[in-house]
Amino acid sequence: MKYIDEYRKKELILAVSEKIKGVSKKEMVLMEVCGGHTMAIHRFGLPSLLPANIRLISGPGCPVCVSGQHFIDTAMAYSKIPGVIITTYGDLIRVPGSTTSLEKERANGSDVRIVYSVLESLEIAKKNPGKKVVFLGIGFETTAPLTAAAVLQAKAENIPNFFVLSAHKVMPPVMKALVDEGVKIDGFIAPGHVSAITGTGIYDELASVCRLGVVVSGFEPVDMMQAILMLALQIESGTPKVEVQYQRVVHRDGNKLAQEVLNDVFELRDDTWRGLGIIPLSGLKIRKELSAYDAEVQFSVDIPESTEPKGCICGEILRGLKTPADCPLFAKKCTPSDPVGACMVSGEGTCATYYKYRS
Ligand code: SF4
Repeated sequence: MKYIDEYRKKELILAVSEKIKGVSKKEMVLMEVCGGHTMAIHRFGLPSLLPANIRLISGPGCPVCVSGQHFIDTAMAYSKIPGVIITTYGDLIRVPGSTTSLEKERANGSDVRIVYSVLESLEIAKKNPGKKVVFLGIGFETTAPLTAAAVLQAKAENIPNFFVLSAHKVMPPVMKALVDEGVKIDGFIAPGHVSAITGTGIYDELASVCRLGVVVSGFEPVDMMQAILMLALQIESGTPKVEVQYQRVVHRDGNKLAQEVLNDVFELRDDTWRGLGIIPLSGLKIRKELSAYDAEVQFSVDIPESTEPKGCICGEILRGLKTPADCPLFAKKCTPSDPVGACMVSGEGTCATYYKYRS
């Protein structure tokens, strides 16, 4: 706790706030890509400590939120296959699909189990050899290596009834897609946990080609204020570059072992993001040689065309074009206990965060 307290010291936060006010003169829009950052920003009330010329917008960094409707609908179709056990992280079961949710399917008799780790899914598979266990793999470079390790373990231990439905994604292509689309972004606060795995080279193109600053940040309020200060200095001086504020965790080369495991199991593919459509080479698919563990290869289901919840503007929020306050359903028809869209389901979702800290 002492360690965390250091990064929550009020006098430090206020001192950095004063520095930001002293150096930043230009209008600037900074996108925090990670849902964990969105939570920290609002939990600690950081926007109120920034000058009016700095605006923070949230990006597509909540894994539950960006997993497309087709993925949710596919998971639900699998859950209806006799003998299939769906295993998933808790938030995902409440995401409304086109017609229903995993939570409702579970109430209707499907075997849907919440796990805290993909290794729990492997254990469930071992204990239920007569069933087929499908793990719903979501998240970015942070969680994908864990899923990859589980696939390798299933192979090593010869567990034939474990499968992964992968919606894993990688971060750089979506950041570039937002810039290419013309979303007004002057700098990125980049995700600390993803960068701890990948290293920081993945952002080089954003700085060198797109001329946008990228600062990898930690998750405490002092971290985030420092990252904003570093971006403000870059923008004021016109020298965009990749910097690391979160130096106690993130290094240039990242975690080589995790990268190797990831590459052994997954390959890049074009993937669908909620609100952003198909982004080239932004998703992770299980390699052909491990297709025995790929649910998409092993199960055949017919999925009708997926539809988004009526009135939900999650897609625009995930692109930083709108905030939850712009949604007429926010805190009225759509609440965390009765969510209309994915951004209100996950604790890392922008709508859920705005709801929680809206006062
Ligand atoms: S408040 Fe609800 S309906 Fe509106 S964008 Fe957010 S999740 Fe969608």
